[in-house]
Amino acid sequence: EAKRSGRQQYRFYSPEMNGRARSRLMLEESLRNAIEQKDFHLVYQPQIHLETGRLRGFEALLRWEHRVAGTVAPNVFIPLLEETRLINRLGDWVLREGARQCNAWVPAFGEDLVISLNVSPVQFGMPQLVDDLRRVLGDFRLRPEQLEVEVTESALMQDLELTREQLRQLRALGVRIAIDDFGTGYSSLAYLRHFELDTLKIDRLFIANMLESRRDAAVVSTIIDLSRHLGLEVIAEGVETMAQRDWLLEHGCAFMQGFLVAPGLPVAKAEAFPRVVDWRALHEGIDSPSPSTAP
Ligand code: C2E
Ligand code: MG
Ligand code: MG
Ligand code: MG
Repeated sequence: EAKRSGRQQYRFYSPEMNGRARSRLMLEESLRNAIEQKDFHLVYQPQIHLETGRLRGFEALLRWEHRVAGTVAPNVFIPLLEETRLINRLGDWVLREGARQCNAWVPAFGEDLVISLNVSPVQFGMPQLVDDLRRVLGDFRLRPEQLEVEVTESALMQDLELTREQLRQLRALGVRIAIDDFGTGYSSLAYLRHFELDTLKIDRLFIANMLESRRDAAVVSTIIDLSRHLGLEVIAEGVETMAQRDWLLEHGCAFMQGFLVAPGLPVAKAEAFPRVVDWRALHEGIDSPSPSTAP
């Protein structure tokens, strides 16, 4: 910690500090301010049962409302929050805010609604994650199954013993555990044997290409089959077209999320989201979907 701030001070006063380092420092400074001033909020992306159109729940996605730059996407600021470890503070806020919203939505959506919360590998490496979750479950009187923790494969690959212990404790707590962006990490199928999980989320890059690429189609259908054999739920991410939706349904995928149905929605719009999606109406509304270009 001392070493870190020492280095930052050095960089701050260094005359040869380049523009990039300076703008990084400014970004870091504005992130600190943003946390203090609560310039963050969550948007909620619906997760839908493919066959019935039933709403499973929402994934909470973090947004930064910058006073000058406008809405900033997490891919820009999460890495910096992780480097500076500020993600631990903000991550705890995400758990709390997601749990608060889940509780507030019980009258509208019932107790089966699942709120999925992204947890950074940095947070996942901290033993307090389990305590933080236990506390918010208690504070907002939620059944643990109402919350799902999304971790990426890279988070699981860090330190096998710690990971195993974290997952064991999360499991004991009863929250759901999802592997995010499944298939993109250093996919080791071995951990599927060792770890108790609930859900696999198929990375959207595979979904984006599966109708054109036989390889991607093979990866997607393999993950669907794998999840069935292991008794896990499976969610396809980034579904943008009706053709992708139909393919996934044919191949036995249970759940989807993606722009075909909705992006991350502000609270008021999420609240108004139908409990059951009418696929036919959706189909007629979007008869020539234009898939966004892959990043
Ligand atoms: P993710 O958890 O895999 O979230 C899915 C991302 O895909 C979201 O981007 C979502 O807006 C986007 N997406 C959903 N459907 C579609 C689609 O049909 N097409 C396309 N092109 N994109 C789609 P977002 O919100 O920018 O988040 C990016 C990543 O930032 C997330 O990926 C997650 O890893 C991270 N993130 C978001 N919120 C949090 C958070 O609260 N905590 C942490 N630690 N990470 C977060
Ligand atoms: Mg996620
Ligand atoms: Mg993902
Ligand atoms: Mg991702």
